[in-house]
Amino acid sequence: MKLLRVEADHPYNVHIGTNVFKFFHDLYRDLLSDADKIVIVADDKVAELHLDYLLSFLKPFDVSVFRIPAGEQAKSVETFMECHSFLLAEGCSRKTLLLAFGGGATGDVAGFVASTFMRGIPYIQLPTTILAHDSAVGGKTAINHALGKNMIGTFYQPKAVLYDTKLLHTLPAEEVRSGMAEVIKHAFISNEQWLSDLLQNRKFSDLTDEEMIAHLEKGIAVKAAIVEEDEFESGMRKYLNFGHTLAHAIEGYEGYGKITHGEAVALGMAYALLLSDHPRLEEYLFWCRSHGYPLSKLTEIPFDSLLAYMKKDKKSSRGTLNFVLLEETGKPFMEMIEEKRAEAAFQQLLSKIG
Ligand code: NAD
Ligand code: ZN
Repeated sequence: MKLLRVEADHPYNVHIGTNVFKFFHDLYRDLLSDADKIVIVADDKVAELHLDYLLSFLKPFDVSVFRIPAGEQAKSVETFMECHSFLLAEGCSRKTLLLAFGGGATGDVAGFVASTFMRGIPYIQLPTTILAHDSAVGGKTAINHALGKNMIGTFYQPKAVLYDTKLLHTLPAEEVRSGMAEVIKHAFISNEQWLSDLLQNRKFSDLTDEEMIAHLEKGIAVKAAIVEEDEFESGMRKYLNFGHTLAHAIEGYEGYGKITHGEAVALGMAYALLLSDHPRLEEYLFWCRSHGYPLSKLTEIPFDSLLAYMKKDKKSSRGTLNFVLLEETGKPFMEMIEEKRAEAAFQQLLSKIG
């Protein structure tokens, strides 16, 4: 088992490894026994596959389970309110411990519930996707509004993160791609050697558990280091948005949930690498093709539509668009790009994708 520490306002540990749940009781005996009740908020699909496994490690405790819709649909006001109703009906109090069991969507909504129920109760993240190496660390919680994704939420750090990588084996291929895109994003903004390892083009399914754990650990370390510097996103934390300006536009155009977040980020990174004039662009495009990232989507969306979404991005202002670019691998910076240059670069990327 690997251990990382996140030195946020309220510091906490991230435990990562195969079968990490078996240490749950020993590691968090106090937190578990001090709770008057333990409530698991579980992604419906994850519960179907893995709830019995999780419960087998929580036998001595008074545990209730509330299942929420699988994936992004759960990030709604309705699910948020249903969670609160469940907690109230169960007689929960400020001493109740909440466990968020699922991918990033579950972590976001359950974290938001934890931060608002009786003005805040403790919660533990139990991430079940590769992408959640990103979302489970950093304490951002959110639900979506009809007018925008993640528009309602809080900064609220968990008490701990237990990342049992055994659960990742049941992920569908597009969710593996989605998560690995955020892994390579962390490599691009931090470490050339690690990036080279990833670009070697091993099939994701050929990665051993140890190799996957090593990648996730590195990704979490990058995220944690940035969050420690900038917990409330006033500066450096923006670098985590490498690839995200275009990604959010693609997701907006396609409709959230129609393309996975990480797959959209993979396309957004290709664009950001071109704008950065990064020497590994071709190699990266090859990596995207060999792993089945949907690069051809870019040829199907009119640039003007993407532009309209990018202009709405809260980081953009008056005719210029704001991007995270790379001076070189590991050296991100913010750059304002004029619309004309943005369009020319997009056309150039299309010619490379062919
Ligand atoms: P997700 O939570 O939507 O899950 C994706 C799909 O995988 C769902 O259908 C889910 O049921 C299924 N699934 C989850 N675990 C599984 C498993 N072990 N086996 C089989 N199926 C499984 O997706 P995600 O990619 O983990 O998270 C995306 C969400 O994370 C987005 O809402 C995004 O906004 C959010 N996010 C938050 C942060 C943050 O800092 N809070 C950062 C990045 C992303
Ligand atoms: Zn992301």
